[in-house]
Amino acid sequence: MKDNLIPEVIPNWVNGSECLAGSGDTIDKISPVNGRRICGLTRSAADDIKKAVAAAQTAQPAWAGLTPVERGEQIYRITRLMREEQENFATIIATETGMAFSAALGETGAAIAQGEFMAGEGRRLYGGTTTSAVQDKYAMTVRQPVGVAGLIIAANTPIANIAWKVFPALICGNAAVLKAAEDTPATAWYFGRIAQRAGLPAGVLNIVQGAGDEAGAALVEHPEVGVVSFTGSTAVGRHIAAVAGERLARVSLELGGKNPLLVCDDADLECALKWTLLSAFSNAGQRCAAASRILVFDTVYDRFRELLVRGAEALRVGPGDEDDYGPVINQRQLNNMLAVVERAKRNGATVLTGGHRLIDDTHAAGCYLAPTLIEGVGPQDEISTTELFGPVACLYRVENFSTALQLANASPYGLTACIHTRSIHRATEFTQKVQAGVAVINAGTYGSEPHMPFGGFKQSGNGTREPGTEALNVYSELKAIYTNIDSGAL
Ligand code: NAD
Repeated sequence: MKDNLIPEVIPNWVNGSECLAGSGDTIDKISPVNGRRICGLTRSAADDIKKAVAAAQTAQPAWAGLTPVERGEQIYRITRLMREEQENFATIIATETGMAFSAALGETGAAIAQGEFMAGEGRRLYGGTTTSAVQDKYAMTVRQPVGVAGLIIAANTPIANIAWKVFPALICGNAAVLKAAEDTPATAWYFGRIAQRAGLPAGVLNIVQGAGDEAGAALVEHPEVGVVSFTGSTAVGRHIAAVAGERLARVSLELGGKNPLLVCDDADLECALKWTLLSAFSNAGQRCAAASRILVFDTVYDRFRELLVRGAEALRVGPGDEDDYGPVINQRQLNNMLAVVERAKRNGATVLTGGHRLIDDTHAAGCYLAPTLIEGVGPQDEISTTELFGPVACLYRVENFSTALQLANASPYGLTACIHTRSIHRATEFTQKVQAGVAVINAGTYGSEPHMPFGGFKQSGNGTREPGTEALNVYSELKAIYTNIDSGAL
């Protein structure tokens, strides 16, 4: 592990240079592995955000003046350097999040793939052509940049979250101000360094560090930020939509989930078990697409529960490549999960396994929660309707397909869903009727691909989709162009 990759204080990137917030204040970044301070991050306030937005505004016209292919080539230069530096990225991500180095490397690869896909959009960036009712008139649409994009992200998969927003924003010809997550400041800072070294013109990508209700809020409120793209909790997303909506900025919200995984009586139980464990516990359950509601047919419930509890108890928890998952990102998140589990117990829930912090010598200093499985909760209970964003899942016994589908849809969220069955009839009906932006047959609730749209129904978002080519709709204005020909001038 190279410790010297992370500076003592993580600065902002504004107009191609590193700089500290005007106040000189910092926030401590604490390791979720051992509770020790890793570094400080500069604590940006409204004035610092103004400088970053001004830099983006100044740089944007020249960036938009390049052809999309030229912008794509610039993005390719960034992804090539990311590949050269992928081990450094993985080291930083593992240090900040506590996830295993191998998992961090995999995430970096996914971020690079996202960049390569978006760079290729430079050769497409399709508009449309259509017919006209009028003789000698032609109709088409073209994509144009919005201007300055304000990008706000969560810490759970830090480099993937950056890639999902920065690359589509840039290929469309916008300049961007990225507000890093306060739990993963160094990953964002390092990405800024790579972009700079790859020759991205100064001011096209500015990266600000700080607290959500200070730096993040100032970005959302800034009148010159034309599109705000946010990945985070539903509560904060709702607030952002109200503030940015007031000034009619475009808003894209990628929010939380409480995703169902259904195990039918005709499922391959070994396959269902493997994917349930991965969906509920990998990355310590810190995925918007994690499975936190496990619906199991009555006739296989007892058997599957036994397999699942045994599987969960066999998981190794720790920060190493040999472990199945690491710590949750901070003490506050851990305390929140423990409190919700405690209230569920008081309301009569049964904790099948886990439900507590790991306090043995190797785990005591970190934010480690034992793999937790709970049963005996109602569909409207707090633990069934609140996203915990940790290694906690509830089991529900369902009578048949129709009650299962009903329960799957009885949620304020609608991000992802999965069914395990051998029946094409059940699989098709489920994927058609489940209220979710992503529906999967016989695998996990997570695992999206760079060229596919991702986003949620109901309170999991506001109807936008990122990434895929659908992300271009978030970051571009569509202009309708009519050309009228004077046939006499031919
Ligand atoms: P969070 O909402 O607390 O914070 C997310 C980001 O928003 C952080 O950068 C934070 O600093 C910033 N922020 C906080 N308050 C703000 C404000 N008032 N104004 C502007 N910015 C503000 O979320 P979190 O707990 O860090 O992340 C976990 C959440 O993210 C979960 O709900 C998870 O499901 C969601 N998530 C969604 C997706 C998706 O694609 N749908 C992907 C990853 C994570």
